[in-house]
Amino acid sequence: GFHSGKDINIVVAGMKGVGKSALTVRYLTRRFIGDYDSEMEAVYTHNTVLDGKSLTVHILDTAWQGDGTEIKEDQILWADAIVLVYSITDRTSFEKLREIADFVLSKRSDETKLVMTLVSNKCDLIHMQKVSEVEVTQFCAEYNCLFFEASASESSASVLNAFNGTCRQVRLTNRKR
Ligand code: GDP
Ligand code: MG
Repeated sequence: GFHSGKDINIVVAGMKGVGKSALTVRYLTRRFIGDYDSEMEAVYTHNTVLDGKSLTVHILDTAWQGDGTEIKEDQILWADAIVLVYSITDRTSFEKLREIADFVLSKRSDETKLVMTLVSNKCDLIHMQKVSEVEVTQFCAEYNCLFFEASASESSASVLNAFNGTCRQVRLTNRKR
């Protein structure tokens, strides 16, 4: 396949409406585009430089089906990193991530090499915050996740930080890169 040593494959997962597509497109274009076809799954390839080393990132922006079919086993095996996205305004979207994370880990025997990061999106809507810091800290400890706060609508820097942080963690985890 197109998995060369330097490439990093990222699966963006989470409930419908949390901003997976908005985050992905913000990372790729530095722009916020408000609305996407949520039925559509897409893979993007992005060439960039990170920490002085060239990097090719493949991002699978998953489409939420709500029936457990949104991430296929071969996609989980393909991934170097899973970015778990919830919206700070939606408790259910946070709670759903346990199911997704458990499912992902059940398909990976080499789970130590899979990077998982947790991204809380829509941080511009802080006044509508429904998920506490304690819960987030606990989730990250339980699933060994790095945590990033982001707003796809307000801040390119926050989104870059989340994706770059994920890629750095893959490089650290996978010393061949
Ligand atoms: P997806 O189903 O997870 O791919 O979600 P989308 O990217 O389609 O976004 C769902 C809705 O949330 C859209 O109306 C977006 O404009 C909105 N949205 C996405 N990111 C943000 C954000 O950071 N802040 C706010 N306020 N709205 C956002
Ligand atoms: Mg989408």
